[in-house]
Amino acid sequence: MPAQRTRIKDLLSAANVDDAPNPVNVKGWVKTVRSSGGVAFVQINDGSTLADLQIVVDASCPDYGLVGGLTTGCSVSAYGGLQESPGRGQRYEVVAESLELLGGADPEEYPLQKKRHTLEFLRELAHLRPRTNTFGAVARVRNAMAFGIHQFFQERGFLYVQTPIITASDAEGAGAMFRATTLDLNHLPMTGGQVDNNADFFGRPAFLTVSGQLEAEIFAQSMSDVYTFGPTFRAENSNTSRHLAEFWMVEPEVAFCDLDGLAQLAEDFLRYIFRHVLENCPEDMAFFNRFYDKELITTLEDIANSDFERMTYTEAVAALRESGENFEYPVEWGSDLQSEHERYLTERKVGRPVIVTDYPSSIKAFYMRLNDGGETVRAMDVLVPRIGEIIGGSQREERLDVLQRRMAEAGLDDAPYWWYLDLRRYGTAPHAGFGLGFERTVQFATGMQNIRDIIAFPRTPRNAEF
Ligand code: ATP
Ligand code: MN
Repeated sequence: MPAQRTRIKDLLSAANVDDAPNPVNVKGWVKTVRSSGGVAFVQINDGSTLADLQIVVDASCPDYGLVGGLTTGCSVSAYGGLQESPGRGQRYEVVAESLELLGGADPEEYPLQKKRHTLEFLRELAHLRPRTNTFGAVARVRNAMAFGIHQFFQERGFLYVQTPIITASDAEGAGAMFRATTLDLNHLPMTGGQVDNNADFFGRPAFLTVSGQLEAEIFAQSMSDVYTFGPTFRAENSNTSRHLAEFWMVEPEVAFCDLDGLAQLAEDFLRYIFRHVLENCPEDMAFFNRFYDKELITTLEDIANSDFERMTYTEAVAALRESGENFEYPVEWGSDLQSEHERYLTERKVGRPVIVTDYPSSIKAFYMRLNDGGETVRAMDVLVPRIGEIIGGSQREERLDVLQRRMAEAGLDDAPYWWYLDLRRYGTAPHAGFGLGFERTVQFATGMQNIRDIIAFPRTPRNAEF
């Protein structure tokens, strides 16, 4: 028996039986077992591909006696010859010469029975749900997209940098932060009626980062083209289908680049990764297209092949006011666009992704570059159908005096940002960057309705199991 296990994907992708390894040793988890006329047909899956492999076990196999005990969820190892399958639904099958039951799964207890389970039910079984077709496909698409993201930036000479997860900047402005502390919350050290932060691990309050942007800017100011790809944390109480408390963000930061250059980068980037996933995950994408969104592949192909629309915030507000739609939130110049507004623009008004630029300075972060007149900043959001905002970015304020004025207006103490301001003191250069929510992007690419089904172990308000 060959020691090497053959992955089901490698078997099934062979052009014909003669090109495939033969005989083979395959291992996996049982999906179904069916017996007829003294022959058992065992479908197994090993996660390498969506398709199952059929193992045929008949009475000539010395381990035939095991098949009665094989049930959904068991892990098995089988050795035998690969042959064309006369059965429907598969090209190849393995005729077992030997079979081993590695781990049983009591059919009275195993929670993943053959019937279809709801996605909500499966969320409570995050330790077993990767065995289902849907979550196996999500895991493979997620993997391919992460790789495609690195490939896009690496092909363009961007440097991958890692920014800290624990940060002491307490007001990056992107969202509520989780505090990271070693203080004993039942016995807090007090001084003058306040918690003594000096007694905490870092001698000051520390938090989980909401974005790697500020540190990425440091690197852009010496390496020119950089990106981060890491976890970020937001303690916002948003119980929506698009928000997680822990999610992964891709943040390119580019020196000598303005907002137009950044918008072009965002567009090239999204088109590249959607094309990448269509080319690299055809079976999984066909699965999502069939079971989750009948227009998924057409939509992604359209995006990969068409130019994105551009409009300013002011134009977007005018379009929304003229739309005649009955929005839940009123549209007024100066207030942020809500998800319903974003979706109207991309789904109804344009029918393609839209890049909205130049938002009111009053609703955007202090580091975004102020336009002449001071009413608006060089910010952009990329909006896509179904999801709304998938990317948020801006040209950064590189002028020291303007930046300090904006920080003061935002009520920020600039002392903790001394290093950020230093970048504007010494060789400041125009630069721009954006943040792409990785889970929102995979959600969009798979057609899945809820972001909790995109990350293996979702963290949301009151939920951190596993
Ligand atoms: P939103 O308005 O949708 O809450 P945001 O404006 O707070 O998002 P940014 O700070 O611009 O988001 O973050 C950049 C990107 O990160 C967003 O475009 C989005 O794709 C993603 N993102 C932001 N918050 C979350 C979250 N809580 N869960 C998952 N992805 C998120
Ligand atoms: Mn945003």
